[in-house]
Amino acid sequence: MFNQNLPTYIHTFETDPRWKTFQSEHYIFHYFAESEAEKDLGHIVKTQESAYQKITTTLKLDNPGKLIEYYLYPDKETMTILTGFDWYAQAILNEFRVHMIYTEKDKPLGEHEDTHLLSLPWGLSFGLFNEGLAESMVGHAWDGTPHLTYVKEGYAKGMYLALSELMDHQGWLNSPEDGRVMYWYSLVGAFATFLIQQFGIERFEKLYRNTSRENTKEQNSGIFESVYGQTIIEAERGFKETL
Ligand SMILES: [Zn+2]
Repeated sequence: MFNQNLPTYIHTFETDPRWKTFQSEHYIFHYFAESEAEKDLGHIVKTQESAYQKITTTLKLDNPGKLIEYYLYPDKETMTILTGFDWYAQAILNEFRVHMIYTEKDKPLGEHEDTHLLSLPWGLSFGLFNEGLAESMVGHAWDGTPHLTYVKEGYAKGMYLALSELMDHQGWLNSPEDGRVMYWYSLVGAFATFLIQQFGIERFEKLYRNTSRENTKEQNSGIFESVYGQTIIEAERGFKETL
């Protein structure tokens, strides 16, 4: 079992009679009749099946042997009442499920949440690399802007702590709420992409498998150095030189 801290999570959605269901090759989608999700079902299936292919091919992952279940909520209120979440999207690792708002305005489909689920054979690394890998698979920020655009802006504004401060899970949780979606997700996504492009996916997998949420900054930093032959401070310097 993966240790995911979700104190507000409730399972009211499981007994709601309104769900309609559609099964594709790797997914089961749950949605309400007459909803935006029902209207867009073909597009949703296509988008997620192509995300599945991209993630499993790029990361060389085996078929998980089970389907990913998507619950698509027609508005924030309904999602909160049925799940206890009021965030746009939430992957539930132990249930292989994704809860997602799907409205005319917000359609947060794509690779992010599925990467959290499909990468579980590698274990569960801490925020910097867990969110970094998910964002790296998306390949751009939530609004389609390149990660690097926001990263440069973030450094120019002095938004960022040193990456060495993000070498444990608490470091990620401490990143300020304000600007997290734009700047912090872009930073960890761009850094993961940098590591994967410079040193390959096999090395990143080794880092991911060996680091953990339970480790201290010192432990994770030591593992980083043993995998990459350089410290996180040196790697950060190399990353900044590419900006
Ligand atoms: Zn995430």
